[in-house]
Amino acid sequence: MREMSVMPGMATVAPVLFKAACPDCRRRFELTAGALRLAIGASRRTTFYSFTCPECGSAVRKPAGDRIVELLTGGGVRTLRLHTTA
Ligand SMILES: [Zn+2]
Repeated sequence: MREMSVMPGMATVAPVLFKAACPDCRRRFELTAGALRLAIGASRRTTFYSFTCPECGSAVRKPAGDRIVELLTGGGVRTLRLHTTA
């Protein structure tokens, strides 16, 4: 395992990776912020994040709690605010 080469000056541009799992094919993988979408609704039930599984192509949607919302927005994930009147 000596394939990792450290490139000088690259440390600051390392992309944030989010661990995710697909409920369809059960694979686990890491996604960049650009591969994820976050939708914040009026309540917890309408707040979720979504992504397309890189393994099987399935559209995955999962509920996002406060911590996940914080994590994703802080990591630069595109956020969509849903204006729903409950
Ligand atoms: Zn999958």
